[in-house]
Amino acid sequence: MALILCYECEKEISDQAPACPHCGAPKDGVYKTYHENGQLRRMGTYTAGEYDGPYELYDENGQVMDKGSYHRDQKCGEWIGSGETVTYDPCPPASDDDHVTEVPPIVAPF
Ligand SMILES: [Zn+2]
Repeated sequence: MALILCYECEKEISDQAPACPHCGAPKDGVYKTYHENGQLRRMGTYTAGEYDGPYELYDENGQVMDKGSYHRDQKCGEWIGSGETVTYDPCPPASDDDHVTEVPPIVAPF
């Protein structure tokens, strides 16, 4: 069993844990954080603790600050940030074999 750093709170967590026990961030799936006023701040999609999929970042007024997609922690495709569009290498198709992650089956402790 290895320890990795949580992408969200940067505390050490087991690489076997499906979610961070400190802050609740999942290693796989969508994680959202909010501004104090309730406005969505960040929506990220993760695979194995890396950005992988749609990502959106907003300021507290709901203005887009950063919006695009990641593939394995790398920005890909078109990104919108501060009113500018930046184009990165195209995102691989979702069916790309490279995209498959090895997720061990979750065994219930009871
Ligand atoms: Zn955490």
